[in-house]
Amino acid sequence: MDVKYALGIDIGGTKTAIGIVDSMGTILAKMSLPTDLSIDPRIMISRTADAAKQLLADQHLTEAQIAGIGVGAPGPLNTKTGHIVKPPNMTAWHDFPLMDALKSHFSLPIIFENDATAAALAEKWQGAAQECEHFIFITISTGIGAGIYSHGKLITGATGNAGDVGHLVIDPSAGDCVCGQQGCWEFIASGTAIARQASRLLDRDVTSKEVFDLAQEGHAEMKRLVDQVFRYIGMGCVTLINTLDPEKVVIGGGVSQVGDPLFHAVRDYVKACALNPSGQNTPIVPAALNQDAGLIGAAALIHMEY
Ligand SMILES: [Zn+2]
Repeated sequence: MDVKYALGIDIGGTKTAIGIVDSMGTILAKMSLPTDLSIDPRIMISRTADAAKQLLADQHLTEAQIAGIGVGAPGPLNTKTGHIVKPPNMTAWHDFPLMDALKSHFSLPIIFENDATAAALAEKWQGAAQECEHFIFITISTGIGAGIYSHGKLITGATGNAGDVGHLVIDPSAGDCVCGQQGCWEFIASGTAIARQASRLLDRDVTSKEVFDLAQEGHAEMKRLVDQVFRYIGMGCVTLINTLDPEKVVIGGGVSQVGDPLFHAVRDYVKACALNPSGQNTPIVPAALNQDAGLIGAAALIHMEY
């Protein structure tokens, strides 16, 4: 029988997406469940497995037609032992043996990687980095993470945590990050960071989207904040470009949706500050697969050699 489908599962702090993806990267069917953080993760995995089996049944597919299950999950994790280790927003999942839990529901091969790494592979497979042998995918949303693809290979590290760039220190005077350091990249330049800093300045709760809108409308204080955040994003990009010498930097995640103002500012910063003349001209481009990157990336773990 012709085996050409993969099940992709993208576990996030708020929702878990499940999809059937063919070897061309087309999503045949998908659905999502709210990730219920108040229940035992074993029960959540059992719900996820039931949903996946239902999705297969709806498509008249059997497990024999599925090449494997690819899973993207938030880090820190340990792909060697198959555990979720310590995602800050998912305390009930700390040290949870995810692979064992999934294996109790399926007899298929299962591969898992951290979500940003899987999303990078999706950009290589179907997105903005298809022609690249060396690129960095950066996702900027509630936190900042990255997937690194170098010399034609996904760089995962010893335990699957390579690319945790959100904790590069950018400004130690900026305050305490959850990780124990001060002034980490995601502490000052993520969506959460933008909202936190703006809410303090305006003395009311604002979202990062509202901050971008206010800056666009000419609100001087918000414009200053946004310009500073873009500069911080540029600083992180320069560090990564100097370290890894990529052909391209792909930026995705909710914050990247602000579009041109961010990309122009980051390109200008990189042009001025990357050490190597070749690095100064590194294309900095938007991700192509925002909506389904997690799902396609999870499936890519099965469909692609990486
Ligand atoms: Zn940190």
